[in-house]
Amino acid sequence: MPVVPVGRSADNAVTTSPQRQRPTIAIVGAGIAGLAAAWELVAGPDSQGGDGPEVVVLESSDRIGGKLRSTEFAGRNVDLAADAFLAQRPEATGLCDELDLTGELVPVGASGASIWARGRLRPMPEGLSLGVPTRSWWPFYRSGILSTGESLRVATDLVVPHRGTVGVTGDRSVGDIVGERLGRPIVERLVDPLIGGIHAGGVDDLSAAATFPQLIAASRQSGSLLRQLGRARVPAPRSAAPPPLFWSLRGTTASLAVALAGALARRGVAVHTGVSVDAVERAGPAGANGATHPSWTIALGGSGPPPTGAVVMADGTSSLRVDGVVLAAPAREAAVLLGPLAPVAAGLLSAVEYASVALVTLAFDPGAIRSPLHGTGFLVPRISTFDGRPALITGCTYLGRKWPHLARPGDELLRVSVGRFGDSRPAGLDDDELTAAVFAELTRLLDIVGTPVETMVTRWNGAFPQYRVGHLDRVARIEQSVAELGGVAVAGATYRGVGIPACIGSGQTAARLVLESLSAGADPAGRSPGRVDPTR
Ligand SMILES: Cc1cc2nc3c(=O)[nH]c(=O)nc-3n(C[C@H](O)[C@H](O)[C@H](O)COP(=O)(O)OP(=O)(O)OC[C@H]3O[C@@H](n4cnc5c(N)ncnc54)[C@H](O)[C@@H]3O)c2cc1C
Repeated sequence: MPVVPVGRSADNAVTTSPQRQRPTIAIVGAGIAGLAAAWELVAGPDSQGGDGPEVVVLESSDRIGGKLRSTEFAGRNVDLAADAFLAQRPEATGLCDELDLTGELVPVGASGASIWARGRLRPMPEGLSLGVPTRSWWPFYRSGILSTGESLRVATDLVVPHRGTVGVTGDRSVGDIVGERLGRPIVERLVDPLIGGIHAGGVDDLSAAATFPQLIAASRQSGSLLRQLGRARVPAPRSAAPPPLFWSLRGTTASLAVALAGALARRGVAVHTGVSVDAVERAGPAGANGATHPSWTIALGGSGPPPTGAVVMADGTSSLRVDGVVLAAPAREAAVLLGPLAPVAAGLLSAVEYASVALVTLAFDPGAIRSPLHGTGFLVPRISTFDGRPALITGCTYLGRKWPHLARPGDELLRVSVGRFGDSRPAGLDDDELTAAVFAELTRLLDIVGTPVETMVTRWNGAFPQYRVGHLDRVARIEQSVAELGGVAVAGATYRGVGIPACIGSGQTAARLVLESLSAGADPAGRSPGRVDPTR
């Protein structure tokens, strides 16, 4: 029994009633995908002047940004997760443009990185495409990352004819394709650290179609894989200063989420933190009360005040009636919300596995690190061992070198990544133990004298969805199943890319799908509440 409609009457919350023209769209999750979805709904010229949808963003945690997060460390602001976004994709830079942040973009301050291979850190040669040499085999050979015999195995691809598998459409794992064509050593020492590193997973399980589409396309052609990949590369413009591969923002990459929330507030969109969406139920099918599309009741929980228009029940729970929903929460949470509505999508989402990672950030006195620091950092292949144990460290960023605005003459900042899918060791160590274990390995990788002057541990449980072979087919089925609900769409890292630009793009697409569905004004499946086809 509703007792307190917050802000406006309970009737007013029925957004499809004849009195209300503007649909209300709820965004579940204020990570970058959810925020981008909200912005897509209110930023366009059509949405100005009161014609666009009313948008409400609901975030279960006490802060916006999801995995975009920063904090103060050693006297400056540092990112706690994502610290850069790919420049080649347009979504993040386009968003920065819309938010007037283009002048705040900062390029990576160093080029290149190293890899721990054959007992030492070795600079990676130029011209690699996610670990595979595409320009010239010679610099790759000279890098010493592979032995002479292992390098020659890679080079056979240039001379031994390959018949190609044109017409084969199925997905395969990255590790399978590269291993078959170029041998296992390059998989283990370059491709796995690079692609597996991006996803905190292993390339023997990761879908080539989802994580390295050029590879699967190249593998189907006859001839050399290296040459095919080389042709697929976007040639760098012949300018004195080629555009950077990655950008951050002055301050932190996480400031993108803060700026986006500020811009949303200026468009009248409130982001409600501490408000979780606990259930989504069909409130009414198309046709009910003159509505042209289905509407939804979302059950709210959490400790934050419910948004305007929510109906508060006697037991303190509240709910909100909306016309459309963008589910921009990670797979497990989305699965729970979709369970009663779209069991097929929910089943596929609940099967998505996640890797957890942790970051250990360390500040050292200048001079404490005696090894030359090349480029932006280094990667450690999973086959590496220290004292007979598999390496804990997966990679390390030289923060002050990667981002000159973080550099100080008084110290050297390192950000070390640990944990990947299947390696639960970091979770079993407390922060002090983890820092000590990382420091012990770090001293094997770099020549360090003394101890860090400041340290910080950040843990990301459920950080990276694992895109297994067949991932894109499953995503298409999830999207189809959700689209059939009418006015509901999914967004975020679970689907078509874990990087910030991909997440922004998925939020934008989801927002447009919901709007299109509302304006199409139909309940495509013609279902009514309580009559959900369980086979979907
Ligand atoms: C350590 C680390 C480093 C990374 N580095 C990079 C990088 O350098 N470059 C790059 O491009 N990408 C990087 N990524 C990946 C990228 O940051 C993420 O994939 C992306 O930010 C995910 O955004 P999202 O909006 O999909 O999800 P999230 O950020 O997870 O946001 C989802 C939000 O939904 C909320 N939520 C969940 N359930 C509910 C509910 N029921 N009701 C309301 N709210 C709910 C959550 O609290 C969360 O805030 C990194 C990720 C990690 C973890």
